[in-house]
This record gives sequence, C-alpha cells and structure tokens, in this order.
Amino acid sequence: MIIFSDALKAAFDFILPQSCILCEKEIEQGMICNNCLEYLPLVNPPLCTACGRPTKDRLRCAFCSSEKPLDRGRAWMLFIPPADKVVHHFKYRLKTRLADLLGRAMAGIIKADHILSQADVLTPVPLFWWKTLRRTYNQSDILAGIISSETGIAQKDLLKRTRNTRTQTRLSEEARRQNVRGAFEVRGDVYDKNVLLVDDVLTTGATMSECARVFKEHGAAAVYSCVAAITPDRPHGTRSNRPV
Ligand SMILES: [Zn+2]
Ligand SMILES: [Zn+2]
Repeated sequence: MIIFSDALKAAFDFILPQSCILCEKEIEQGMICNNCLEYLPLVNPPLCTACGRPTKDRLRCAFCSSEKPLDRGRAWMLFIPPADKVVHHFKYRLKTRLADLLGRAMAGIIKADHILSQADVLTPVPLFWWKTLRRTYNQSDILAGIISSETGIAQKDLLKRTRNTRTQTRLSEEARRQNVRGAFEVRGDVYDKNVLLVDDVLTTGATMSECARVFKEHGAAAVYSCVAAITPDRPHGTRSNRPV
C-alpha cells in the first residue's frame, strides 16, 4: 500500500506543474530552481585525502585519522541544509528524477579527477534485498547507472549485502563500524582492479570502509568512493561514543 501511494505520487510528479523541492517556487522543468541550485553547499578543497571531506589544514579528516581504508574519495555537496533535503527527496520519496542532477554532478567530479577517472569498474553500495523491495529502488544503483553512462566506466554489481544492518543514524562511530562488519560479500573478480564505490551519502565512512576492506581482501589494487553528499568534518580529538 505504501509502495502504491508512493508510486502514485511519483506518477503525479510527471503530470502536475512542478515546484522547486526547496523553495516551492513554480518551475518549468527539473526539481530545483536555478536560485536554489546556485546556493547548494558544494564541497570545496582542502579535502581529506581518504574520503574527500573538506578539512582544515590537514591531510585527513577526523573520521579517517586512525585508519585509511579508502584510497581516495570525492563528494559533490556537504550534507547540511538544504542539501540534506535534496538527498532525502531522492532517497525516500521516489524523486528519481533528482538522480539525473546528482548523478551528472558526480560524473563531472569523477571526470575531472585524475585518479577516480582511471577506475576500472564502478559499483553501487547495495541495500539488503528486502530494503530494496520495500523502497522499490536502490538509490546508489540508480546513481551508478547514470555515472557509468556519463563517464564510460563499466558498472558491475560487485557487492552483496549478506545481512540486514541496523540503521546507522543513531549509532556512535564505533557501533557503526561493528554494525557493518562482515555485512558485505564480494561477487566477481576484483583482483588488481581499481574499484569505484558509489553511494548517496557518506557520514562516518563506516560502510564505505567495510566495503573497501572486503575488496582489498579480494586483491583490489585500490578502492575509491564518490558520493552525492558528505557530512562536515569535526574537530580532531573529539571521537566519542555519542551518535554523530
Ligand atoms: Zn528553489
Ligand atoms: Zn576522511
């Protein structure tokens, strides 16, 4: 029933006049008006050398300071208002047309990056199967498809989520790491390959790190990430068990 009403809403999106999802001003096409687009909080350097999170005067952000599972990461927006709303619409409300905007922006970042653009293969971070069924689509899979056609990097589903994991939102950093530990299985050959992981949001990086770890275990040469949005850095030395 929920799926049906969401699908109906999505169908109306194509018929009814559109309004900007951020300011609700009526627009001719797209989902976000030009004015709101201009003020999206885009990521600017200096960036963490591991995950691509903006940092201040240091090589790695606070989340990547103790380990370096990702070889390089890039993100388009900071996951702060109003970018969080954009992602939320994309993720939960079947606003799949937002995928074009996000996917093309991410593809632009990848093409401009001398390392990410050399990836041999790109793969979406999978959801557990019943989550995909409930939501009717996997947001990272849609992004990966657009990025692949824009960049020419082949898309392969190289990961399988072998168990469901608790939603990470209210978990501390350490709990997030334990929550996703062993949750992914590699399918296919990644030996000596440079693998690019695609997802919508990167927060602590626990999920991406776990994916990178299993790819490395299977002989991947390097693992990169590209996300639509990334949470801001926090001051060093503030690792705590509080949810982040
Ligand atoms: Zn607007
Ligand atoms: Zn980082």
